[in-house]
Amino acid sequence: MPSNPQNDFPEAFEICQKFDISEEQMREIVHRLTKEINMGLAKDTHPRAVVKCFITYVQDLPTGKERGKYLALDLGGTNFRVLLVTLKSESEINIESKSYAISKDLMEGPGKNLFDFIAECLASYCKEMHIEKENLPLGFTFSFPLQQVGINKGIMITWTKGFKCDGVVGKNVVELLQDAINRRGDLKVRIVAILNDTTGTLMSCAFANRNCRIGLIVGTGTNACYVEKTSNTEMFEGYQTSNKPNMIVNCEMGAFGDNGVLDFVRTSYDRAVDKQSINPKRQTFEKCISGMYLGELVRHVVVELMGKGLLFKGLNSQAIQEMWRFNTSYISDIESDAVGVHRQASMVMDQLGIRTNVEKDLECLRYICQTVSTRSAKLTSCALVCLINKMNSKDCSVGIDGGVYRYHPHYHRLLTENMNMLLKGSAKFELIVSEDGSGRGAALIAAVSA
Ligand code: BGC
Ligand code: MG
Repeated sequence: MPSNPQNDFPEAFEICQKFDISEEQMREIVHRLTKEINMGLAKDTHPRAVVKCFITYVQDLPTGKERGKYLALDLGGTNFRVLLVTLKSESEINIESKSYAISKDLMEGPGKNLFDFIAECLASYCKEMHIEKENLPLGFTFSFPLQQVGINKGIMITWTKGFKCDGVVGKNVVELLQDAINRRGDLKVRIVAILNDTTGTLMSCAFANRNCRIGLIVGTGTNACYVEKTSNTEMFEGYQTSNKPNMIVNCEMGAFGDNGVLDFVRTSYDRAVDKQSINPKRQTFEKCISGMYLGELVRHVVVELMGKGLLFKGLNSQAIQEMWRFNTSYISDIESDAVGVHRQASMVMDQLGIRTNVEKDLECLRYICQTVSTRSAKLTSCALVCLINKMNSKDCSVGIDGGVYRYHPHYHRLLTENMNMLLKGSAKFELIVSEDGSGRGAALIAAVSA
């Protein structure tokens, strides 16, 4: 039986109401984000802007004619990856890769250890592939806020997503990696480009889809980049004289709201999750949207209802009380159950030490998950509509990557519906999952910039 939340679990309904964002509020969010983006772009407001809109030095979209063999590194998601990308033809791109887990010690330890580890993985991969002597060009997908100074030079601004390594902020990350490679002395590679994952995603999508104008990530973190007119990118020295009409801008929109402009839609649960995070008061927008935080928001609501004896009555477990134990992938699992079915939901709770088949409770759990994921999708829709309006685009494609978008059963539909609601037919768009942006995109940028 489909439930009626207001009648079946009124207390949960009341809490979930706080996460609801009305159409009017969504329009206000689009408006505020537009303002923040303009501040990031303009020279006189950039220093105090919250949404930094970093220029990427990527001014050319791929033509589909790029060829060659490239190395890529992907740092900033759940795993660290080394990739070997061969662009063979427009329809044939060969990618081989290997993932390496990054321990918590590396994520929170000295930067030197992290870069030594990256270099070590790179070296062992190159040896495995017998390419250590080839002096291949490398594109470094580094998915953190970076003030780029050129296509292969970028100053680290701040860590996000659970990383916090000393000795990196304020430094040129390309140099840190190059030094770590040189220290080893057993490897020849040239770092020719550093890029954000959003940029890689846009490029990767644009390779086959010439109409792609936005790259979006909804994964561990969230962010978007888009194609801006060079003449609007005042932070670029050559913005008035460049003969190239476009510049990809990395918005770093995860930081939207860090100055309080989103407080009108945030809840006490958002504030609690923010407080316990490794970077309080930072990445406000990201903390309402991305995979690192959605499960934790759900957990907070569940624990509150359990504490009041209103959910899973008589049951408790250490696991559900533990911070970060409710993975965001559980939300996707739970919402994958068909109407009236609670198979995934009871399996998830079982994993968390709560064994139950009480339908009403499991239905309530699903409702909480829906509430949190729907809000995430609404906020992401606001961001996309903001960028579409900013570009004055009538028809464009959006390249998207990240676990939340990929694995949540309804995220794509929620984005589409909410964007259409906001756009009211003023623009058309297509949301395309972007295959391996961090690898393919890095290779393309290496190729385009070589
Ligand atoms: C980072 C961005 C990145 C996004 C998605 C955010 O935390 O600041 O640079 O694009 O996560 O990975
Ligand atoms: Mg990634």
